[in-house]
Amino acid sequence: MTTPPASIAPIDPKLDLLDELEAKAPMRALAIFAHPDDAEFTSGGTLALLVQRGWDVNVVVTTSGNKGTKDPEVTPQYLAGVREEEQRNASAILGTHEPIFLGFPDGYVHDDDELRGLIVRQLRLHRPELVITWDGFRPGFNHRDHRNTGRATYDAIYPAADDHLYYVLDKEEGLEPFRPQAMLLAGTQNADYHVDITPVIRKKVDAILAHVSQIHGRTAEGTMKMWEDRAKAAREAGDETASPYRESFTKVLLRR
Ligand SMILES: [Zn+2]
Repeated sequence: MTTPPASIAPIDPKLDLLDELEAKAPMRALAIFAHPDDAEFTSGGTLALLVQRGWDVNVVVTTSGNKGTKDPEVTPQYLAGVREEEQRNASAILGTHEPIFLGFPDGYVHDDDELRGLIVRQLRLHRPELVITWDGFRPGFNHRDHRNTGRATYDAIYPAADDHLYYVLDKEEGLEPFRPQAMLLAGTQNADYHVDITPVIRKKVDAILAHVSQIHGRTAEGTMKMWEDRAKAAREAGDETASPYRESFTKVLLRR
């Protein structure tokens, strides 16, 4: 089941990343985020677009978002169940596989060897050429779970997942070392890669609205209007290309 790395030609940094990956590598992507709804808000359009273009896309969520409520009657156990179900519904709308939950409590994601090992296992299992995750190195205020999920993913990819002496028990399950070709970091400060999500914008909106416990009765029309207004304000403030119809990332190429 292992794809020999030697068969993949290097990705040309000057050409479009998705076009290059589609031409040169197996079309497999893995999104790794912290909470149910992170993937949809940051990359829902990109994930839907990948599926539309024939990619095999999996989503890993490190927590089940079990602190995401202001309702004093709701227990974390109950909320985890609700939010996992919402994530499954959102993933079905985008066309990705059933989401994988690592089960850490919301707000308690540590950038440690345990999380890194669990992510290494997912990389060796799914063998994605493209990984989409949080930018764990963005300066300034950021949610701890976002930061730690992003950093652990980075460390899982390089060097751990591709070195057989890290997390040696994976071998017993037949999981071989693996390194992806590229990462796209979401929630980033200086984005250098933009995806036009116009053809799938409605899917993105519907996938976000599937997180019913988080969106407080918002409608598709209301969501689009809010994004349009926000983009308009950003354009007036000098960001000429701001638009709800694109998602922006920092691109990282990894040599094999
Ligand atoms: Zn989040």
